[in-house]
Amino acid sequence: MKKIIIAGGGASGMAAAITAAASGASVVLMEAREQTGKKLLRTGSGRCNFTNARMEPDCYYGDRAFVSTFLSRFSTADCLSFFRKLGLLYRERDGYYYPYSNSASSVLSVLNQRIRELGVNVLTCTAAEKAAVLPDGRFSVASENTVITGDALIIASGSPAGAERQGTGFQKLFPKACGIRIRPFLPALTMLYGNEGCERVWEGVRCRGSVTYEGRTETGELQLLSGGISGIPVFQLSRMAVQALSRGEEAVFFLDFLPDLTADEITDLLTPGKKLEDLLRGWLPRKLIPVILRRAGSFGDRMTEELEIPERNALIRALKHFTYRVTGHGDFREAQTVSGGIDPRELTPGFEYRRIPGLYFTGETVDVDGICGGYNLHFAFGSGILAGADAAKES
Ligand SMILES: Cc1cc2nc3c(=O)[nH]c(=O)nc-3n(C[C@H](O)[C@H](O)[C@H](O)COP(=O)(O)OP(=O)(O)OC[C@H]3O[C@@H](n4cnc5c(N)ncnc54)[C@H](O)[C@@H]3O)c2cc1C
Repeated sequence: MKKIIIAGGGASGMAAAITAAASGASVVLMEAREQTGKKLLRTGSGRCNFTNARMEPDCYYGDRAFVSTFLSRFSTADCLSFFRKLGLLYRERDGYYYPYSNSASSVLSVLNQRIRELGVNVLTCTAAEKAAVLPDGRFSVASENTVITGDALIIASGSPAGAERQGTGFQKLFPKACGIRIRPFLPALTMLYGNEGCERVWEGVRCRGSVTYEGRTETGELQLLSGGISGIPVFQLSRMAVQALSRGEEAVFFLDFLPDLTADEITDLLTPGKKLEDLLRGWLPRKLIPVILRRAGSFGDRMTEELEIPERNALIRALKHFTYRVTGHGDFREAQTVSGGIDPRELTPGFEYRRIPGLYFTGETVDVDGICGGYNLHFAFGSGILAGADAAKES
């Protein structure tokens, strides 16, 4: 019987433990924290959006060919089937899948239950600190109190994203010691900071809007903060902005506060006989009006019919093409995921590191990250499931 060590008891490590043990392997699951799957409880604002009906390679950043192969081996249907077999009731809303209970704890419960049923040896409060490839090709992993040896090692220790406390950096240290190149982690799916002078005025506004960056536009609820911008549309584009900033480049976003109206439709709405500021009260959240007027040229007390064409154009630009220079981003604690990790081209479709047989990387340790919508958990569960099955195979 093969013995498999899994370092990290989060989404991907738990899924790996289940498939490896169900395939007949003896599994040790090492988890640094006092319980497995703690981060899962915080996902989807406590509701755990674990997969999505639309599952295409363009929902992920990372090597396109690797992602395509992954999705051909682990589809939405595969993810749903895995959880159905664990006894999870789920439901779909606009393509997003959640547990029927609307509580992430249901997902964690069914995973933990199956892990217990399969007799996985779960070691909590046990951080993998050092690992080595033994001369016979097996692996040893040392924690503070114990050394475990096994035929395969699955590194599922996540990333610094959303970490409530400092990690051990195991996901970087061990590969480095083996000469494996790790692309540096950077926050992704995070808020962005700016310094346009409007942030204190618009603080707390939540409104429908679009965000455009580098030719990509995302529409949804924008959250305007005292230090910057947030909300799902911003999250979706944040990875590209974080990378640009890390290269020392500028990141200029364009915000559209009336994404459902064209410039011509807005012009038609500038009905005569009204002060511009009064008219905008019916269009925009109150705190946004001074920001728009200031950007347009501070003529809010004018009657709409008095506006010259350049003033109308400036108003439309402020409403639909509001330049927002991004100067910073949320740190790892504020991010939902990361870019960076092991280059997926170094992995087989079963997530085995090509140059060290028996060594696997899953979840956020791999340089593949998804947009918002259940894609990161889909990848975490799927990579764990595929790695667990592959590692358990008797050669
Ligand atoms: C607030 C928040 C909300 C999110 N919401 C969603 C969502 O709704 N949908 C979605 O798809 N994604 C969501 N994500 C992203 C998703 O949670 C992650 O992509 C996913 O959990 C990654 O799984 P993982 O197994 O790679 O890492 P993790 O789930 O982070 O698990 C890694 C585990 O390894 C443990 N560990 C670390 N170092 C060691 C060590 N040295 N030894 C032993 N154990 C170790 C950690 O304690 C942890 O339990 C969210 C993330 C955050 C932070």
